[in-house]
Amino acid sequence: MNNEVLLTRPSWIEIDLKAVQFNAKSILKHTDAQRLIAVVKANAYGHGAIKVAQALYDIGVRDFAVATIAEGIELRSALYYENVKIILLGVQDVNQIHEIIKYRLSPAVESVDWLDQALHGMNDSEILNVEIAVDTGMGRMGAHSKQALQDVYDKVKESSLLQLTGVFTHFATADDNNQSYYMKQLKLFEEWVESADIPKKYWHLANSGSSLWHYREINTQTIRVGSVLYGFNPGAPLLKMPIKLHSVLTLKSKIGAVHKLQTGESVSYGATYTAQEPQWVATLPIGYADGYLRRMAGMKVLIDGQIATVVGRITMDQLVIAMDRYHPIDTEVTLIGKSGNKEISIEEFSSYARTIPHEIVTSLSSRLPRVYIK
Ligand SMILES: *Cc1c(COP(=O)(O)O)cnc(C)c1O
Repeated sequence: MNNEVLLTRPSWIEIDLKAVQFNAKSILKHTDAQRLIAVVKANAYGHGAIKVAQALYDIGVRDFAVATIAEGIELRSALYYENVKIILLGVQDVNQIHEIIKYRLSPAVESVDWLDQALHGMNDSEILNVEIAVDTGMGRMGAHSKQALQDVYDKVKESSLLQLTGVFTHFATADDNNQSYYMKQLKLFEEWVESADIPKKYWHLANSGSSLWHYREINTQTIRVGSVLYGFNPGAPLLKMPIKLHSVLTLKSKIGAVHKLQTGESVSYGATYTAQEPQWVATLPIGYADGYLRRMAGMKVLIDGQIATVVGRITMDQLVIAMDRYHPIDTEVTLIGKSGNKEISIEEFSSYARTIPHEIVTSLSSRLPRVYIK
């Protein structure tokens, strides 16, 4: 543990940036893509957007995607280079067109109406980069018919202030096994985009699920991925990974207090756990306000490759583990990741929480310092 962490608190996240780079190269190779748009929205799925983006920039990635203008501005402050593109994936408030242009962000656009309003707020020396969103079945945003797409594309071509940088769709079932819905979306995209005659170099369709399991069916000159960069299986537990990725994130804490419970003594709110025999327990300074969800009660943790168990209710800032022997204060405990020859994977953790890996990693709060391993 380094000083950066000692200054804050003894619960922290370690991020392996080399693993992120390895995963990016692996998915490019797997799909035979030339270009990768790195999805670093939500603080790079909790891993730290600037650090992750810089590590990817170092291996040649020049395209990034975030969800909000604020995320785009933060990223632009670190990657201010002319040749770095930052896409805004979500619907944006057109009243913020000045921020979008000032920070050279490329918004996803779905309608002529939005473009008209944007143009109205721009002056003649400004250029807006446009990513045309096509809704083929996700139902969130995007031009929703062949004609709607044609109209948006015509508008972009006709205005000298608008510059096309991409056209994309998002798959609803790439990481489960609804193959027919996937193919239906793909057919619509191809039909509409080909009818509008938008050149292939602008297309980007493949999210992580598509890149892993459907790369043969789609155009993968450019892929647009998040989950795989962070090393987890987006289709867990349904689908098996076709390639081996490296795990990126480790969640650790240190024992802050140790006690021996006597038979009949209980732990935490509601006194839901009662020792049936004398039991060593330890307190870790991490709780649900850190994203260690309350429903993780009963989950295992690792101490030197040995299993201990979270007992009683998880509180906002602390939790208690039961151990089969005494461990002193300051002993390191792994809550997600490898310890000795055991591992608690994000997939296993999220399945215990009855959710998906994405929700677990984005729930790890800013109160946990991120330590970067190079
Ligand atoms: C979040 C998001 C992605 C990345 O998805 P992964 O499954 O994590 O690769 C790609 N495209 C869009 C439009 C998104 O919203």
